[in-house]
Amino acid sequence: MNHEERLVSARAEPPELAEDVSLRPRYLRDYIGQETLKENLFIALTAAQSRQEPVDHILFHGFPGLGKTTLAYIIANEMGANIKVTSGPVIEKAGDLAAILTSLQEGDILFIDEIHRLNHVVEEILYPAMEDYELDLIIGQGPGAKSVKMSLPRFTLVGATTRTGLLTPPLRDRFGVILRLEYYQPDELVRIVKRSAQMLKIAMDDAGAEELGRRSRGTPRIANRLLKRVRDYAEVRANGRVSRQVARQALAMLKVDELGLDDMDQRILLTIIDKFQGGPLGLDTLAAVVCEERNTLEDVYEPFLIQSGFLLRTPRGRMVTAAAYEHFGRPLTNSPNQAMLFGEREAGNK
Ligand code: ADP
Repeated sequence: MNHEERLVSARAEPPELAEDVSLRPRYLRDYIGQETLKENLFIALTAAQSRQEPVDHILFHGFPGLGKTTLAYIIANEMGANIKVTSGPVIEKAGDLAAILTSLQEGDILFIDEIHRLNHVVEEILYPAMEDYELDLIIGQGPGAKSVKMSLPRFTLVGATTRTGLLTPPLRDRFGVILRLEYYQPDELVRIVKRSAQMLKIAMDDAGAEELGRRSRGTPRIANRLLKRVRDYAEVRANGRVSRQVARQALAMLKVDELGLDDMDQRILLTIIDKFQGGPLGLDTLAAVVCEERNTLEDVYEPFLIQSGFLLRTPRGRMVTAAAYEHFGRPLTNSPNQAMLFGEREAGNK
């Protein structure tokens, strides 16, 4: 299955975008969770406001669906500024970026999503623009080529990426503020689900919200998506009201398990347990066996499995943990590696 089709994929899909936008918190005070990040951002914004300057360039990093775009819009709202939104792969040529930069006004926010996917020619235009608010363009080719310099209004670049390690060091160094988004805690997701349910006028009790929050893989976008699918189920099967039982039935039908793991997550873990004695197993082999791309495994599936304590990245390859065996009710195999993992955990528990 393509990850774009997954119910628990954290990526935004086009039909969903309009509703995503309506559910977005607009100001910092409405933004749930990420307390440390919010405090850092609040200080940066308030200091800039009191100096009457545009805020420093800001880089957000974190897995898809955690709220990076939402924060870019919040910055614009809090600063009373305009925002232009684009993304790394869309800006193909130096001229494309030059056109965007020259259309900015003093204090504007330029949001570049997937900023690690800018090509290097475009990226080099960005360096002087970020550092000195200058545009350096070479026009023409060969001996007739001319270098043109233009000054730009002072703007704020907000970049978003999944991992800072994907950015080149010169680009990363030009951000004054680098902030990391973490997976959300279940109680924060419950608050997000309740807020969204209220906005979408969905009747839901606390237990229903808890069930959804717990199964949303720490990700608000997934929480909102599950909420909408559960609403559909409730409308057809349960007079529109989402209780714990209705949420459970709907999620079982959607094949999302107790912890929010879907078909593909289960396939990954069970493949390693059943076919490879728990690992270690190279990423390329795993990708071939589960018929998924290596990059997709690494960026979309693995982070949550690792964070939940089901999967380990070791120098020798991927391994599942004792917790994964327990989750699927599989007995401990004869794998010496698994014996080691169980042993360590039990020693730790004493
Ligand atoms: P990203 O850019 O990191 O992929 P988005 O900013 O597009 O993620 O967020 C995805 C969805 O999750 C948004 O529609 C928004 O409604 C919701 N969301 C994200 N963070 C929060 C939050 N802290 N509180 C409430 N909703 C949130």
